[in-house]
Amino acid sequence: MHWTAGGTAKSAWNTFASATLRGRKSIAGGGAVNVSSQYLIDRDGTIYELLSPTRVARHCIGLNHLSIGIENVGDGKKYPITDAQIASNVALIRHLKEKYPITHLIGHHEHNKMRGHEYFIEQDPKYKSYKPDPGDAVMKRIRGGLSDLALEGVPVNSSPKK
Ligand SMILES: [Zn+2]
Repeated sequence: MHWTAGGTAKSAWNTFASATLRGRKSIAGGGAVNVSSQYLIDRDGTIYELLSPTRVARHCIGLNHLSIGIENVGDGKKYPITDAQIASNVALIRHLKEKYPITHLIGHHEHNKMRGHEYFIEQDPKYKSYKPDPGDAVMKRIRGGLSDLALEGVPVNSSPKK
């Protein structure tokens, strides 16, 4: 789960449209493929499928090979995640869970806690990021709508490997 750190779907689209990474020196060492996400949820709750969920998108270090990224237009400050977005996230994840063997639901800000988990591929220990999105409050709202699915969060008692 992500937020785009922007206010419009258009700006997110412009970021993702190129096949190759532009700028972003901090992650350029990880390859020339652009950042992307399978889904983008606009502020009114409209869900856009940008890539098939069976295609790899570059959205989360260590977990891209088996995860589905969902971006939400917003930033938690000027553009807080809307109730319509929460409802669409819940509906989309419920739909995806019916189609794919999804076991975990995590926020980007939680991804370092997956280091050491069997799902996490560590190719370069120096290549890492610390993200604020979408934050505990947003994850609590989304998880609240999916509590019956028994999706796991980050491993209990885990701590990020430094
Ligand atoms: Zn993110």
